[in-house]
Amino acid sequence: ASRHRVAIIGSGNWGCVAARLVAFNTARLESFHDEVRMWVYEELLPTGEKLSDNINRTNENLKYLPGIKLGVNVIPDPDLEHAVEQANMLVFVTPHQFVEGICKRLIGRIRHNAQAISLIKGMEVKTEGTWMISKLISNVLGINCCVLMGANLANEIAEEKFSEATVGYRGDGEIAQRWVQLFSTPYFLVSAVQDIEGVELCGTLKNVVAIAAGLVDGLDMGNNTKAAIMRIGLREMLAFSKLLFPSVKDSTFLESCGIADLITTCFGGRNRKVAEAFARCGGKRSFDELEAELLQGQKLQGVSTAKELYEVLGHRGLQGFFPLFTTVHEICIGHLPPSALVECSSEMTSKF
Ligand code: NAD
Ligand code: 13P
Repeated sequence: ASRHRVAIIGSGNWGCVAARLVAFNTARLESFHDEVRMWVYEELLPTGEKLSDNINRTNENLKYLPGIKLGVNVIPDPDLEHAVEQANMLVFVTPHQFVEGICKRLIGRIRHNAQAISLIKGMEVKTEGTWMISKLISNVLGINCCVLMGANLANEIAEEKFSEATVGYRGDGEIAQRWVQLFSTPYFLVSAVQDIEGVELCGTLKNVVAIAAGLVDGLDMGNNTKAAIMRIGLREMLAFSKLLFPSVKDSTFLESCGIADLITTCFGGRNRKVAEAFARCGGKRSFDELEAELLQGQKLQGVSTAKELYEVLGHRGLQGFFPLFTTVHEICIGHLPPSALVECSSEMTSKF
């Protein structure tokens, strides 16, 4: 039988680490072709060299994951259509705002038997309804798409520190197992659950709670307040997930994609970091400005996700039932001061 070929669509902070995990396995497992093509959104480094040329030369991504060798079988490719042309396993891992445009470019350009997985934490709200990213990929390209989410700060996995992750799937468990095999290493323990919406919503919604946790840090409110905000956030995550998809399972929230990702992101993530800076300057500088300064090209997902949740809840007249999600958005857009989070948290506690 012919061997599976993998392409990674994305080469940011997590994209590069995902490529590194996958490349470790494709090099050692018979059922996969060694080479992993990684699509690079081209840009110029300050030296004037193209990022893709630099990755090719150094086997590192100097801008998004400096100091980490990706593996000699990771081949950077700035040409999206060329990068995916031979692959039958497509790993989507870009900031969520770019994925729809990327998928549209790939219509008619992928192999007929391709399978996809999304590592992207986010959602899209359109007039016709709410789209989880895996559904968007699946619908635009007409292919099956699983998800992989978890407590996975990329820089720690790059250093091979132990962590866990969750593959979410519907239907065919055999394909989910192929993804588990592709990503699992001794320091990256992957399990699969048959609740794709639950897994993807956990990964998406925790970014909004992480913004709230960062605001609490910036207001110097301490650990108890932060724990309270995380608890209320978890309750809203569960309630929102079931509102959208009644089939979502409580048990999914006890997997790595649920409580564990919430904890790691609220303590060590980029959403937390930028929100802390936002609160420290009293909301005087915008999230966009702070993101550019503090993350240098990496992207936040929590601010846009909060906006998307606000719209979904607004359409349904349910904002009052989700005070944390709603307040985070109003703080992000400057309608409320950062301190509003704490002022309304006693009201939140009484609701939950
Ligand atoms: P990132 O935050 O490093 O984003 C930068 C990437 O976006 C770069 O590759 C850049 O080239 C690309 N980019 C910029 N403009 C673009 C455009 N117009 N079109 C296409 N690409 C463009 O990305 P990341 O950390 O790899 O995150 C990707 C997804 O993975 C996100 O949904 C994130 O929530 C999720 N995630 C990240 C981590 C982490 O620790 N970094 C962990 C788990 C999940
Ligand atoms: P941040 O995007 O907040 O860094 O979170 C990364 C993540 O999803 C960890 O699992």
